[in-house]
Amino acid sequence: MLSRSPASSPTGESLIRLRRRAAKIAAILGERYPVTRLPLKHRNPLQLLVATLLSAQCTDAQVNRVTPALFTRYRTSEEFAAADPLAIEALIRPTGYFRQKARAIARMARTLEQKFGGIVPGTMEELLELPGVGRKTANVILGGIFGVPGVVVDTHVRRISQRLGLTAHDDPPKIEQDLMRILDRDQWSDFSLRVIYLGREVCRAQRPQCPTCPLRRLCPSAEFTGRPPWMRPRPSARGSRTRGPSSR
Ligand code: SF4
Repeated sequence: MLSRSPASSPTGESLIRLRRRAAKIAAILGERYPVTRLPLKHRNPLQLLVATLLSAQCTDAQVNRVTPALFTRYRTSEEFAAADPLAIEALIRPTGYFRQKARAIARMARTLEQKFGGIVPGTMEELLELPGVGRKTANVILGGIFGVPGVVVDTHVRRISQRLGLTAHDDPPKIEQDLMRILDRDQWSDFSLRVIYLGREVCRAQRPQCPTCPLRRLCPSAEFTGRPPWMRPRPSARGSRTRGPSSR
């Protein structure tokens, strides 16, 4: 595996060099963000699953504002499955796309009841059987609940992995594969979370803070102030919001 060429690296580095640079990046991020904690508040696997579904096209802070009332009213997948969709919509409205999200939660809860007896399963294959659950959500659950290493590719991880030249892909599952190939397995979960922290604080989509970024000496995009030639311009926020919640 190590001898395989990093076909998707936009920097042209060998896989060995890419792995070395990724290890240095992971070490610096580890120093900058020694504590990694899931930003979505939850008390059990079901709550994390629902909160992650709500986080599509929404900030974690906004999700955390609506979930206390939601989780007080609905405590089990059975209760979510039997809930009046309008009642769920009213509680989650501030997260956006509330109708689609209410339907997604109900579908997920019904399948959880029917196939898994209301217990959130602990494997990627089983989690992907739940409607609305994609690899990103599954990796959040696997890492956050079951301690199974996984690379979570959200909007921050996608953008920053591209800026760092760790992938040339735009498709989250392919970015996930690229990062899994160049990072040690025990780094997968923490690396994702730390990149998300960096994306909120320093390497923002607009106006990344390259001159003060702790990764600037390892980042090929620093000289392009975060807009390297290998990255395609993304659709505007207005344009992207017309598509509905992104795949999880
Ligand atoms: S140097 Fe700039 S583009 Fe690179 S990770 Fe830091 S903020 Fe992002």
